[in-house]
Amino acid sequence: MFAATLDTTIEFLKGVGPKRAELFQKELGIFTYDHLLNYYPFRYIDRTRFYKINELDPDLPYVQILGRITSKEIIGEKHKKRLVARLTDETGTIELVWFQSLKWVDENLSKGKVYIVFGKPVVFNGSFSISHPELENYPRPATITGNLRLQPVYHSTEKLKKFFLDSKGIQKLQTQLIEQHIKEVRESLPLHVLEKYHMISKKEALLNIHFPKDVKALKSAERRLKFEELFFIQLQLLHTKQQRELRFKGHAFGAVGDKVNTFYKEILPFELTNAQKRVIKEIRLDTQRGIQMNRLVQGDVGSGKTVVALMSMLLANDNGFQACMMAPTEILARQHYESIASLVKDGLVSVAILTGSSTKKQRTQLHKELEAGEIDILVGTHALIEDKVVFKNLGLVVIDEQHRFGVEQRAKLWRKNVIPPHILVMTATPIPRTLAMTLYGDLDVSIIDELPAGRKPIDTRHLYEGQRLRMFGFMKQEIAKGRQIYIVYPLIKESEKLDLLHLEAGIEQMRYQFPLPDYQISIVHGKMPNADKQYEMQRFIEGKNQIMVATTVIEVGVNVPNASVMIIENAERFGLSQLHQLRGRVGRGAEQSFCILMSGNKLSKEGKLRLETMVKTNNGFEISEIDLQLRGPGDISGTQQSGVLDLKLADLATDQLILQEARSTVMEILKADPMLEEPNNSLLRTYLAKRSRGIAFDKIS
Ligand code: ADP
Ligand code: MG
Repeated sequence: MFAATLDTTIEFLKGVGPKRAELFQKELGIFTYDHLLNYYPFRYIDRTRFYKINELDPDLPYVQILGRITSKEIIGEKHKKRLVARLTDETGTIELVWFQSLKWVDENLSKGKVYIVFGKPVVFNGSFSISHPELENYPRPATITGNLRLQPVYHSTEKLKKFFLDSKGIQKLQTQLIEQHIKEVRESLPLHVLEKYHMISKKEALLNIHFPKDVKALKSAERRLKFEELFFIQLQLLHTKQQRELRFKGHAFGAVGDKVNTFYKEILPFELTNAQKRVIKEIRLDTQRGIQMNRLVQGDVGSGKTVVALMSMLLANDNGFQACMMAPTEILARQHYESIASLVKDGLVSVAILTGSSTKKQRTQLHKELEAGEIDILVGTHALIEDKVVFKNLGLVVIDEQHRFGVEQRAKLWRKNVIPPHILVMTATPIPRTLAMTLYGDLDVSIIDELPAGRKPIDTRHLYEGQRLRMFGFMKQEIAKGRQIYIVYPLIKESEKLDLLHLEAGIEQMRYQFPLPDYQISIVHGKMPNADKQYEMQRFIEGKNQIMVATTVIEVGVNVPNASVMIIENAERFGLSQLHQLRGRVGRGAEQSFCILMSGNKLSKEGKLRLETMVKTNNGFEISEIDLQLRGPGDISGTQQSGVLDLKLADLATDQLILQEARSTVMEILKADPMLEEPNNSLLRTYLAKRSRGIAFDKIS
């Protein structure tokens, strides 16, 4: 008989075997004993609390009931067969129903016997029933599982359940693992870390996550395991960052020269906000170290990121380097180019633009000037990444609206110089701190958390469908004042055709109920050719059309200062961050701006909360925090593809404190022992070595 260890294939665990092992692998990615031991319950039932049948309520989650089986029978034909039993206590009776494994249940369930039953009660035909409840004999045996006060509940799948691997089945296997193998569990965190935060050992944590002694022990186990989870993510991120800094030199922008000074003293038409000053200083300090900068600048729409970018580029120019700025769309690139070119007029520096629609002749000329170092600042789209674009001496790359560019594209820009340029990534999508620390944990983050003075907050109102005439009245009034208006319709992914119908019906209704001769409408939606889209947008930008009706294709960052009203139809269908982004299209000029959220008369609780939040605050960071609480990290824009968010226990919405602790601990460790050579950090070195082998392997396969 071979001696099993935690690395043994799950197949060999008593009660598993080849078929279930295969299911474990396919359904849950569990291959070894260790994997299963690290498959945690997702919640617990209080086994000290028994519900009486007359206390049941359809709002209750899982409940535990003690009762006697008073009848059981198999009813129905063939594939509709089911086993129905009645469970009775002194207050009433409920039905227990099984649709699968009828034979097994029939053999194991005895009429007249008392059982402990677990399950979610639902109302069916006017009375309570529980389908596929879990059953336990009564009284409970005096074993570890028998003595549990908190019953673990594991996620399972339909396929696993067919092979009796429901929550109870998994619990049985966990019992076995704990009894036979818990002693083999090795500590994964350095002792000094455990001591610092008074955390329990890995062994104790695993024991208590599966079979908690009491609520306090469960909390300690959760805290320890969450910490560990976040700690190792931070270790990887910060280690990557540190290695990059050790390995890649960066251009040292030693001096602030004429260009920055002239711009700041003589050209800049306004006073910088304190936040802008702070961020520029952070960039200045970061770029003079001789280490490549990788910095993310987060700032709400309108917080003035462009001028921060421009001054950073001028700093590069002052130090003899070229700079470029990349935007996700042609319209945005053009806007940046125009605003930058108008700010640095009088020949302070030379600025050029390169996009997909630059002609061959323009390109040839531009390539030449770029290589000769005659262009100081190049603004453009993806076209900048092409290999043909060669700089004489690129020192800084600014990437606007980061989430549209992939890591691969970022890397391409790096290779545009022997010493990689400094990278400044700008995003107008505020993300909560915990997310930023996890998603961009290998970047330094600067935050512009202040709007320029005198900016009037956008006045946001929520109107119900029944108040539509008021909305039309308001539009009329604003158009009469010479303002322009956006009306946005949500995109319903399932049917673009329906979206369009919806949008067209909306325009019809508007023309009918709002008959003014002197307004023109631009219509922009995903289904129309690019050229038409550009044409319609251009008319709106030039003020020839007063109203722009669009699906959500309205470009991020499009700047039409005279547009001061944003109307969002079916606003309850949008997520918070999207609503905030859309609202950011207005409030760019001197006029008071408005955002009107139109919704149906019936709203879900969450939909209502979203709209209330929008009405209450203009602060993007506050909104992103609420969004995170409402939807969880997976749905926040730009995070979908990121594997770092597959957290097992930790929750970025609620575990901010643990994340802080984990991150600062890693920072301290890496600072004191950069190569992790100290014996008491050897666990960490081993972890990283294993990971990097794993990653290399992933890339090959
Ligand atoms: P965003 O952060 O959304 O990219 P922009 O850089 O486009 O914002 O700035 C929005 C507007 O605010 C621009 O018209 C810009 O000139 C102006 N602006 C930027 N900073 C200031 C400031 N400190 N004071 C006054 N206006 C400013
Ligand atoms: Mg911008």
